Amino acid sequence: MPDIATIVREIAEEMAAAPDRGQVATYIPPLAAVSPRRFGMAVIEADGTAHLAGDAEAPFSIQSVSKVFALTLALGKVGDQLWQRVGREPSGSAFNSIVQLETESGIPRNPFINAGAIVVADMLLAGHAPREAIGEILRFVRALAGDDTIFIDEAVARAEQETGYRNAALANYMHAFGNLAHPIERTLGVYFHQCALAMSCRQLALAGRYLMARGRNPDTGFSIVSPQRARRINALMMTCGHYDGSGEFAYRVGLPGKSGVGGGILAVAPGKASIAVWSPGLNERGNSLLGTLALERLVQRTGWSVFDPG
Ligand code: GLU
Repeated sequence: MPDIATIVREIAEEMAAAPDRGQVATYIPPLAAVSPRRFGMAVIEADGTAHLAGDAEAPFSIQSVSKVFALTLALGKVGDQLWQRVGREPSGSAFNSIVQLETESGIPRNPFINAGAIVVADMLLAGHAPREAIGEILRFVRALAGDDTIFIDEAVARAEQETGYRNAALANYMHAFGNLAHPIERTLGVYFHQCALAMSCRQLALAGRYLMARGRNPDTGFSIVSPQRARRINALMMTCGHYDGSGEFAYRVGLPGKSGVGGGILAVAPGKASIAVWSPGLNERGNSLLGTLALERLVQRTGWSVFDPG
């Protein structure tokens, strides 16, 4: 096998030449304005060696990738009681689907569809003003990455708020079932701000290291979550991290991964690497087209897979 540095460099070169780059999200102007030519990749190995390629240092809107960090925080706050209000099954539906909520009493299928992430945001709000809950998420992500320059893009948060009718519908509907504890404006305020986190591939891969390292931050040795919880978050990423494209991602990549509509994907090769890719053009399921392809090539060339001891 060629070394990882060569593999990452070659994949970035291949992606730069890719003719089909997918469609950039257009539901808010700040995302619509991003060039589909952008591509970045960061692979951070278990020993800390970092391989960066393309636009790996450029901040982008991590959107739904933030749902992994919000879930981790909420589990720390309320523990397994969280699962009384959110399920753990893949939805097979689009990221913003409302259909299952009616038959399932306002309990979202999993924490990585919008409805589930809104319930998680509602949990993070308990005992806090929205500004404090948002600050807590930002501090957590900064601590994970060891980088205080990570920020929330207020223009993105505002645009999410202005166009978030569907998320408001989900929140109202769940509130009607008694599954939100706060006024929906406050809960959505937290959710929209977490979606507006701006991070580079390098920062995102750094922040995801606890998921490849049995719950520990490799910089500090400090336990972020127990090994069991890290495994369980990885299991949810594998089964639910790509919405109705989760089965396809597991088949092609075979690693836990979480995508965002900004074109980012965080993927975890347990014990081996934390990986972030970014390319803003999306496939028909709303997941990064070239990001997925880059990860598929990475695992083909490294042999990384949770289905193979390697
Ligand atoms: N802010 C987006 C929404 O709630 C996030 C969706 C995503 O990244 O998939 O619609």
